[in-house]
Amino acid sequence: MIRTAEQYVESLRDGRVVYQDGKRITDVVAQWPRSVQRAASEFYVATLPQHRALFTMMEDGEEVSFSFKVPTTPEDLQRRRQILLTLNQLGAGGSRLTGIDGLNGVAFGAAKVDAAMGTHYAENMAKYRAWCKKNDPSICAAVSDPKGNRELHAEDPRQAHKDFYVRIVDRKKDGIVISGCKLHISDAIIATELMVLPSRNHNETGKDYAVACAVPCNAKGVTFLATGGSAGGGHPMIIFEEVFVPWERVFLAGEWQFSREVATSFARYHRLTAATYKTSSLDALAGLAMLMAKYNGLTRATRIQDMLGWFAMYATVTEALGKAAALSGTVDPDTGQARPNAVYTNCAKYWFASQWHEAMKYLQDITGGIAATMPSMKDWENPETRPYIEKYLQGDARYPTEERIKAINRVIQEGSTFSGVLSIHAEGSLATQKMVLYQQADWARFEAAAKYSMGYKVDHPDFKNRLGIGQSPWTLPESLIHPKTKK
Ligand SMILES: Cc1cc2nc3c(=O)[nH]c(=O)nc-3n(C[C@H](O)[C@H](O)[C@H](O)COP(=O)(O)OP(=O)(O)OC[C@H]3O[C@@H](n4cnc5c(N)ncnc54)[C@H](O)[C@@H]3O)c2cc1C
Repeated sequence: MIRTAEQYVESLRDGRVVYQDGKRITDVVAQWPRSVQRAASEFYVATLPQHRALFTMMEDGEEVSFSFKVPTTPEDLQRRRQILLTLNQLGAGGSRLTGIDGLNGVAFGAAKVDAAMGTHYAENMAKYRAWCKKNDPSICAAVSDPKGNRELHAEDPRQAHKDFYVRIVDRKKDGIVISGCKLHISDAIIATELMVLPSRNHNETGKDYAVACAVPCNAKGVTFLATGGSAGGGHPMIIFEEVFVPWERVFLAGEWQFSREVATSFARYHRLTAATYKTSSLDALAGLAMLMAKYNGLTRATRIQDMLGWFAMYATVTEALGKAAALSGTVDPDTGQARPNAVYTNCAKYWFASQWHEAMKYLQDITGGIAATMPSMKDWENPETRPYIEKYLQGDARYPTEERIKAINRVIQEGSTFSGVLSIHAEGSLATQKMVLYQQADWARFEAAAKYSMGYKVDHPDFKNRLGIGQSPWTLPESLIHPKTKK
């Protein structure tokens, strides 16, 4: 089924335990109506005639959300991108942004564990997917653990305690009991379900940390601590205190050898999601740079044009890498599951994240010092002080002062620590993408290219039929090199 926006909103009043800024929040809808409205709009949009064909599909005579489909082709991956782009354009969504990647990442891992260990996690996952199609939940991926000392494994006795990574603390006949904490879980407070999965590899001695499962947001023992001062609950800490999870919602429970597989499989999907939502925000960033240049009367300056050209490249390369990651995704022969191209998806995330501070340098350079010293918008609203701002903070006379100061405020927001840290760390810190690139890049091809360029005969299929260096398909005849002069 497709839930209505109203059904989604009502479902949030389910007794979930939430705190923010020192207080218990008893009604998340009343506390954060704008975030809830944004998330609820995803359900509303899915039912609109102009979007229905994109957002939903028919299965066994029932209309269900396309996002819950197992992606089986690169086109499915691209369609999920299209859904995210549409949501961005409409100012909707959020509470399912990470969870679908969690679902697909864990599903892939579950099938691999089953194949190697004879477990039945893929069956659990298939049933859970069917449940999702029937109940249309919003889902968040709860991956990042607090980690404690990063140099040490979870179970290392030198860690201050055992709970820096979510772990299984008990195994019962009908399920497992988990404890621990996940950090920074975007929009989790306004989700229905948490897809819990490991954030890294674990050793045999730390097998209890190899756990993936689905937990309802209102499960007994789950507590959310919202991001301090955030207007929408932000990216909360989630504490799991002896939370019972029935076996049918468990997708990994102790198979430590697959902990990394599950984590990286999620990341492969999630970095594509990141490159997709960034596409919209980087379009706006490039536009903001151009507008600031216009307001400041700078568009004819070649050094400013140089920076603007860079912005166009920044946005366009991110978009292109995201599209390439989806459309050159591969279908795993064992599971039939389509996954983004690992190299492109990691390049996409690394590219936009590693260049973010460069972008801020250019944006702040174009804007000028006012981005650090702006009077408050309250002074703009105050009739006594507004005329000063109106007069002295105008730039090029063709544009109203209000447009310029709004753009300056946007530059201030973009340059915030939050935006910088979001770019660098959300979807994994920069080192994690380079690690995957090192592991997944086609080194055999790169090496063959190098050897070929040095004149070696190379056996690699992309090079073995090539002509030798210096040879060309067409031979310039002697008669054209040294034409006989006509008498
Ligand atoms: C706004 C925002 C939203 C987020 N949303 C979500 C979400 O929805 N779901 C979710 O699960 N997570 C989410 N995250 C978490 C994000 O994935 C992590 O912040 C990221 O993976 C980095 O982990 P960390 O914060 O623990 O930093 P760390 O991993 O501690 O990174 C700090 C530095 O230490 C380095 N480092 C870490 N360990 C080692 C090591 N063993 N050896 C050498 N160097 C090391 C890193 O490369 C980095 O340079 C979000 C983060 C942000 C900022």
